[in-house]
Amino acid sequence: MRMSRFFLRTLRDDPADAEVPSHKLLVRAGYVRRVAPGIYSWLPLGLKVLAKVEKIVREEMDAIGSQEVRFPALLPREPYEVSGRWTDYGPNVFRVKDRKGNDMMLGPTHEEFFTLLVKDLYSSYKDLPLSLYQIQTKYRDEARPRAGILRGREFIMKDSYSFDVHDEGLEASYQAHREAYVRIFDRLGFEYVIVRATSGAMGGSASEEFLAVAETGEDTFVRSPGGYAANVEAVTTVVPDSIPLDGLPAAHPEQTPGTPTIDSLVAHLNEAFPRDDRPWEAADTLKNVLVMLRQPDGDRVPLAIGLPGNREVDAKRLEAHVAPAAVEPFDEADFAAHPALVKGYIGPGALGSESVTGIRYLTDPRVVEGSRWVTGADVQGSHVLDLVAGRDFVSDGTIEAAEVRAGDPAPDGSGPLELARGIEMGHIFQLGRLYAEALDLKVLDENGKLVTVTMGSYGVGVSRAVAAVAEYAHDDAGLVWPRELAPFDIHLIVAGKDEAVVAGAEQAYLDLQAAGLDVLFDDRPGKVSLGVKFKDAELIGVPTIVVVGKGFADGLVEVKDRATGEKRDVEVTALVDHLRS
Ligand code: ATP
Ligand code: MG
Repeated sequence: MRMSRFFLRTLRDDPADAEVPSHKLLVRAGYVRRVAPGIYSWLPLGLKVLAKVEKIVREEMDAIGSQEVRFPALLPREPYEVSGRWTDYGPNVFRVKDRKGNDMMLGPTHEEFFTLLVKDLYSSYKDLPLSLYQIQTKYRDEARPRAGILRGREFIMKDSYSFDVHDEGLEASYQAHREAYVRIFDRLGFEYVIVRATSGAMGGSASEEFLAVAETGEDTFVRSPGGYAANVEAVTTVVPDSIPLDGLPAAHPEQTPGTPTIDSLVAHLNEAFPRDDRPWEAADTLKNVLVMLRQPDGDRVPLAIGLPGNREVDAKRLEAHVAPAAVEPFDEADFAAHPALVKGYIGPGALGSESVTGIRYLTDPRVVEGSRWVTGADVQGSHVLDLVAGRDFVSDGTIEAAEVRAGDPAPDGSGPLELARGIEMGHIFQLGRLYAEALDLKVLDENGKLVTVTMGSYGVGVSRAVAAVAEYAHDDAGLVWPRELAPFDIHLIVAGKDEAVVAGAEQAYLDLQAAGLDVLFDDRPGKVSLGVKFKDAELIGVPTIVVVGKGFADGLVEVKDRATGEKRDVEVTALVDHLRS
């Protein structure tokens, strides 16, 4: 490809809406172009990298015997209705109507349709196991599209589905996928971790995520020295032992004027009610946080969460556990509608399905039977001390919504947790019989009995991978692609107007192509300065830059490694061999 003809305009400035390096660089270097929020066009450079990611994914899926198909993105409503997801996906699905007024949607994921396809064509255990995949465009009306193609509203996913008769079969299919994913992400070349995950709107049981380790990622994960790794959403709290109720002091309400916050309360307790053993701490208090849950059908339902006062509610953990509902603030109008809730002094007395408010009340797992708390007395300026869980109040259950902190113990006893951030690149699920049951996918087993098929579902963010690689593969000057993903093998620059130099570069262009190398040839005429050519080459990020210039008279060209910056002069006659090796 000649730069003089190439459909490319590099930009000097970062796009105004870009925060993360991959977004800035992919736009500036001319890989993608924004059409609308979360919706991007792929330009020739970007499309070439995308195709290389697809190739890796395809090769590794084919290698585990998965077979490629392609579904439409435009889908009818009914199967989604049967599985319950037409409602559950709420505002995240793009919904359209056809000319007859039928409801249709743009597929956000395809479990239902793969299930129906297999049901359509297969009927015996002899046909299984089966694994099908597609690389296809998905649509999700994300609440917060972000970081260019990292979180789009239209994006490309590899999704695959496994079908087995028995649980052991599902386990084997899941492991095969897991290994394929390891190979895919090894080849993509970024640092990643495999973590336990929650299954969210997908349902089902065992699931793991592959996260690219990156400061700019939206996911937080934890790791322990003993090898525990989980998305923070999936971390379970180490529950203290419950305490016998006998002999615990009686609860007593006390005046605590002007203590609507945990800090002000702890300070007041230490002044007015000092403990003998140690000072009061925020962890001795039970804080009750109210939120509104927006159900997929639009209803708003209040939820109260009781947690130790030294921890905040983690929005992502909460969301993961109340999905498919979305979390919204409990606002002034909501308080006005529940006069029994005294802001700043809300206690378990006003909460729970048996209480006057009837508000569902879930507590942190640390609120075990026999634990003693200082908490709101539901009266302005008053708290109750020695309120004992299981004796003085009960909740409607527990919820894992409190933040996880560095140093918290791993649930499997493998040591203190450390926290880091990542980008979700892949997600594998053992769905089990959920969708097969709903859509009646059954086959005859070895004994001629009809049994429900068990399924797995597996996704890779293909377009997201282009951005995730770019998050790693860049420096101050631009992108630095790994060889397997680079849009071209060689970026060839002609440096000078001298006829012999130009002719030499033209010849090198032909020779390199003849050797099977994919070459981007910056043949732009002299009015484009050498400085601009070098800047563009660094921005675009092809791993090897060849410059035909001054040294050509002595039979030399310069070969530069984009990643290390290392330069060396190579004999023109040896160039092809040098580059091939
Ligand atoms: P996230 O938590 O990032 O929203 P998800 O859990 O909803 O992702 P899955 O349904 O598991 O995503 O989809 C499989 C893969 O598709 C993800 O692991 C991710 O790599 C990719 N993906 C999901 N949503 C997007 C998006 N909006 N833009 C780009 N890639 C996406
Ligand atoms: Mg996921």
